[in-house]
Amino acid sequence: MRLTLLGTGSPESYLRRASSGYLVDLGGETIQFDCGGGSFGRMLEAGYKPTDIDRLFFSHLHTDHMMDYARLVHARWDDGRGELPVHGPAPIGTITERLFGRDGAYFADLTARTEHEPSKEIWLERGGSLPRPWPAPKVVEEQPGYSVQGEGWTLRSCKVPHAQPFLTCMGYRVDSAGKSVVYSGDSGPCDALTELSRDADILIHMCFNLSQEARGPEWLWGSSGHKEVAATAAAANVKTVILTHFRPHMDAEGMHDQIKAEMSEIYKGDIVIGEDLMTFDL
Ligand SMILES: [Zn+2]
Repeated sequence: MRLTLLGTGSPESYLRRASSGYLVDLGGETIQFDCGGGSFGRMLEAGYKPTDIDRLFFSHLHTDHMMDYARLVHARWDDGRGELPVHGPAPIGTITERLFGRDGAYFADLTARTEHEPSKEIWLERGGSLPRPWPAPKVVEEQPGYSVQGEGWTLRSCKVPHAQPFLTCMGYRVDSAGKSVVYSGDSGPCDALTELSRDADILIHMCFNLSQEARGPEWLWGSSGHKEVAATAAAANVKTVILTHFRPHMDAEGMHDQIKAEMSEIYKGDIVIGEDLMTFDL
């Protein structure tokens, strides 16, 4: 199993960090968690192609977790794999239809690419056949707690507190060959995520701000700070915690050392400040 961090940033524009995206290469299959702005380019930088992505899972539908969704679907389709399996909360089905449906946002582009003679010739040269089908992501709208059985891997999910009641929000765990990676999605501390993370090798956890920056309990309810992440990692007994969803001020000089020092008083495992394109082999 190889984990690649495609995007460790937030909604804020930040050249150093793309928005959320994580790729797990499971040997036979490669899955991706979230598809935030910039994550598509990072996927290419990491040496993967759009057609390498076998399955996409959304934690929730904040735009910083899905801005590159259309890019991935379109590029994968253009390279000959139009039916990307997509799992995520509602309304991902509606969003997909409004992007790629016959009356969708890309109606004119897709009509041209499938009906314009030069485009059809290029398609045939690539090994395609006519008539050229439109992109057709296989979207399944899921409820927290669902699971997926893949080839040699199992995925489980749980509900996490973040942006309810406006968004359904999930955390994920993938297990393969005795190894495990958990992705919190965007989440405050909660028992369900702690249990999902139990004894995991890696927990990728959002850290939206320093704990002392929280403006009140309701702030921390849905977005963990570094000490909340440490408490979750300790309670779940994970081997390594990777902090992600960083904002620019959290990369100021000395800040990473401070974050790690304060976390290590709570959590004794390995602490990694995630950076785009970091890889972890399990
Ligand atoms: Zn979010």
